[in-house]
Amino acid sequence: MATIGLEVHVQLTSLKTKLFCSCPSDYRDKPPNTNVCPVCLGLPGALPILNERAVEMAVSLCLALKGKVSEKMVFARKHYFYPDLPKGFQISQFTKLGSSPICTGGYIPINVDGKEKVVRIRRVQLEEDPGRLVWPQGFASRYVLVDYNRSGVALLEIVTEPDMESPREARAFLEKLRSVLEHLGICDCSLEGAMRADANVSVPGGERVEVKNIGSPKEVEKALTFEIVRQTTLIKQGGKVERETRHWDSSKRVTIPSRSKEFEADYRYMPEPNIPPYYVSEEMIERIRMELPELPDERAERFVKEYKVSEYLAKVLTSSKKLADTFEEVAKTVGDPIRVANFLVVEYLRWVKELGMDIGEGLNAGYLKELFNMVDKGEITWKQAKEIVFPEVLKTGKRPKAIAKEKGLRAIKDVSEIEKIVEKVIKSNPKAVEDAKRNEKAINFLVGQVLKATKGRADPKLVREMIKEKISKS
Ligand SMILES: [Zn+2]
Repeated sequence: MATIGLEVHVQLTSLKTKLFCSCPSDYRDKPPNTNVCPVCLGLPGALPILNERAVEMAVSLCLALKGKVSEKMVFARKHYFYPDLPKGFQISQFTKLGSSPICTGGYIPINVDGKEKVVRIRRVQLEEDPGRLVWPQGFASRYVLVDYNRSGVALLEIVTEPDMESPREARAFLEKLRSVLEHLGICDCSLEGAMRADANVSVPGGERVEVKNIGSPKEVEKALTFEIVRQTTLIKQGGKVERETRHWDSSKRVTIPSRSKEFEADYRYMPEPNIPPYYVSEEMIERIRMELPELPDERAERFVKEYKVSEYLAKVLTSSKKLADTFEEVAKTVGDPIRVANFLVVEYLRWVKELGMDIGEGLNAGYLKELFNMVDKGEITWKQAKEIVFPEVLKTGKRPKAIAKEKGLRAIKDVSEIEKIVEKVIKSNPKAVEDAKRNEKAINFLVGQVLKATKGRADPKLVREMIKEKISKS
């Protein structure tokens, strides 16, 4: 069993401007170093002005996590030298030295394989994103390029207590956090780099290792799985797990030691003199509390009441906003919400795992409606829908109708055609027919033979009924 704590960096992508200047916060796809001004370039004499909308968003997250909002918030300088940090310090928050983060405490309930667990939040702080380093030849590059377009974008750092014990729990926490952020409408976590995590992990008998800058919940699960195996093997072989910082190489699927060692005492925190302490009023907190949208856990309760799905299905569906939105949209038009919920939780999540995707990836409500419609109209069978068409939709992004046409799929609608095949199967399997007369379960074999002969194009329910009827008459 491992001990895992996470530090998650989340960009407030819904903000129009950066944290301390009026440059647009949407830096993506802009030519390098064009989205900058003296403040976010850290030029001497430039003064930061706090973006109050960022404070409101941070407060909304704090309330959603049921944490304590600080009445007085002080920013601090965190000193370190790195090419992505033009000022030589990052404006952040700190718990000591008269500085305080925007939020302390709080928790997120997670659900892994039906088992409930609460992960406590230590603090949430507001800080600026550094610039972006580009290694032209990956980690082996001999030089690095710096793009300051991202410099100064508002970040929330969310630090958990070391409450997680497996890579799957860490992934479930990140997925749930992502769902909360997306329900709040403060971060579009699907954007590249919008949500990054540092994971602290240790195993019994070893020191804590920090794996830095992992890009998605699915990658966090992989990196931690690798790291736990590495640490346990090392200890078993008589080695020592030292306290160190490592990086996750997602293409090679290994963690590698970081070149620089970092310790908290080195940062020389001091209060930021250019930003006055910010007082969060009771009135502001109450206004934001009143404006909070429906959050994942409340939405799960509503799903149980409104759609009569089980508590388990409701929790899994709301662990991702995209999944929950898709469920509601499809359930409203197709009807039969339980069938839609089961399809998403059982079939979709199975393919997510098999194809190595992140939850929400490849989901398209319109295509799902089309798929259900095709089955309901008898154009394709349920088996064809879930085994052939749906995975192909996920892999290629093509419409279900186009895929069915391409693959020449169609259900046999002509009952007499199926009847002929049923009769043939009954004739050539006399022993199975005798068994089936005594044992209901033995019919499965005959149904299987018919489906095989029709290449899965017949409706299994109809086939079963036909076989029963013919056998009872024989
Ligand atoms: Zn700027």
